Amino acid sequence: MLPKPIQNLIDEFAKLPSVGPRQAARFVFYLLHQPKEEIEKLAKKLFVLQKIDYCSFCNRIIESNGGKTPLCDICKDKKRDRSTVCIVEKDTDIEAIEKTKRYEGIYYIIGNDNEKEQLKRLKDLINRIKKSDKKLKEIIIATDATTEGETIALYIARQLKELKKDNPDLVISRLGRGLSTGSELEYMDEDTLVNALLGRK
Ligand SMILES: [Zn+2]
Repeated sequence: MLPKPIQNLIDEFAKLPSVGPRQAARFVFYLLHQPKEEIEKLAKKLFVLQKIDYCSFCNRIIESNGGKTPLCDICKDKKRDRSTVCIVEKDTDIEAIEKTKRYEGIYYIIGNDNEKEQLKRLKDLINRIKKSDKKLKEIIIATDATTEGETIALYIARQLKELKKDNPDLVISRLGRGLSTGSELEYMDEDTLVNALLGRK
């Protein structure tokens, strides 16, 4: 049997997405053979996660600066077009769309693992749009082309419908479906993503 602290660490690693107990054990034994300084460096980097904040507009992960209403660099950027909001599931989706350099609007992350939280975030967004005096032109629903992504997209579209009452010109679009089914936004190559953006309807 392995010493208890080692087994505990393996169990921790095994909780990570797509990591099974065997791979977790491999990680732990790899670390076990690293110099002490390296382990210390890694531990310090993990502590950084405690100092993470979320953008008060789009929910993106940012480095905490102790501010009460932290904003990410995209939301802060005056050059971004605030009349278009792109709803994505997670941070890495924003990175993927940003890489294409074809989108000028702002984003909103609704999350993808907790339905209650998704509903809360959607309601927050709807309230904010209703209160804002700036007219919104378009909301792009950019969820994965997976079964889960499709389900979330339909759900979002249903929730957003009420915004059309006050703003009949508002366009609610979705990424073009030239995408192969099953593809996750963050893994799409840039060309596919650009086409999906341009082909939105
Ligand atoms: Zn932001």
